[in-house]
Amino acid sequence: MRLNIACIEGDGIGPEIVTEARKVLDKVAYVYGHEITYTNILMGGASIDVHGVPLTEDAVTAAKAADAVLMGSIGGDTTTSPWYKLPPNLRPEAGLLAIRKALNLFANLRPAVLYDELADACPLKKEISSAGFDMMIMRELTGGLYFGERHTTEENGIRKAVDTLTYDENEIRRIAIKGFEIAMKRKKKVTSVDKANVLDSSRLWRKVVEEVAADYPEVTLEHMLVDNCAMQLVKNPAQFDVILTENMFGDILSDEASMVTGSIGMLASASLNDTKFGLYEPSHGSAPDIAGKGIANPIATILSAAMMLRFSFDLDKEADAVECAVKNVLKKGYRTIDIMSQGCTQVGCKEMGDLLADEIN
Ligand code: NAD
Repeated sequence: MRLNIACIEGDGIGPEIVTEARKVLDKVAYVYGHEITYTNILMGGASIDVHGVPLTEDAVTAAKAADAVLMGSIGGDTTTSPWYKLPPNLRPEAGLLAIRKALNLFANLRPAVLYDELADACPLKKEISSAGFDMMIMRELTGGLYFGERHTTEENGIRKAVDTLTYDENEIRRIAIKGFEIAMKRKKKVTSVDKANVLDSSRLWRKVVEEVAADYPEVTLEHMLVDNCAMQLVKNPAQFDVILTENMFGDILSDEASMVTGSIGMLASASLNDTKFGLYEPSHGSAPDIAGKGIANPIATILSAAMMLRFSFDLDKEADAVECAVKNVLKKGYRTIDIMSQGCTQVGCKEMGDLLADEIN
């Protein structure tokens, strides 16, 4: 298969971690007989330095021409970098918002997995974490409260602010379909999270999700109120497979689920549109404090590349091989500094990439 991948290395540790992800993808291509073409795209600070803006039209065109985008991370030290003296619409992060919009990336996927070998990093009690967990948070990314009408007024000296939470059935249906499709590739369970006891938008969410569920009889659907879900994530995270939810609930729950794993350098993510196209990036930032030191953990980016293989290219066997390589390398006791623990062997970014690539054969 020919894989046409656009690469945004970005800033800080971005180039280091993307280099290792490409190394692993190249090994997958070699072992499984695929051909990969990479196109480099500038975004964020790297684009500001060259073009004066965080994202150019040409960069968007190049991204659209690819089958998928692999990204490192963008941004610099927000207190010292000159990029943050620019107006907000010209700062690195504006590039990320613009590309998400230009590519219509409405579905955000954040897996939260507790690896046995990293269980000590999990802040939950042993009796809870010992059951392990492996869940996927599916968050609607382009609607809801963050995109609704808003205004602030003042009447008779009293300030008043209004934000609007709006969803139409099409916006709900397309993310629900993604959620069920992804559940079909996993343990076939969807927990749809809403606040249907209070919000009209949630009641519509629930109805539309049920309509979509009818097309996926193999998938078990349950509904959960968002406040209960926040509690269940720390009480019994093993119960979840796919959590499907709207923008703001997903923003909060995905951060909560990430923190429950305890290892920022391990957290992958994907943002998809209604085709197979997606942008794949680690959940962490550009870590300017460790950039150029060769110590960054590339695993989150490599697991994001595995998500790309699975969701943009339907190469499940290849994605399994990458995820299995991560488990094996951890099992053998290799760790980057952020996940280091006693008795393990500390390796740098490049060595971790080499170990993971070697594991795929
Ligand atoms: P960060 O995630 O970059 O770093 C937080 C801490 O985690 C730092 O101590 C860092 O060294 C460590 N860390 C992060 N990733 C690591 C890895 N792979 N291996 C080892 N250690 C790692 O968050 P921050 O410091 O708040 O933000 C730095 C910059 O990144 C900012 O400019 C911010 O806007 C940007 N950012 C970008 C994205 C993105 O591109 N999607 C996301 C978040 C933050």
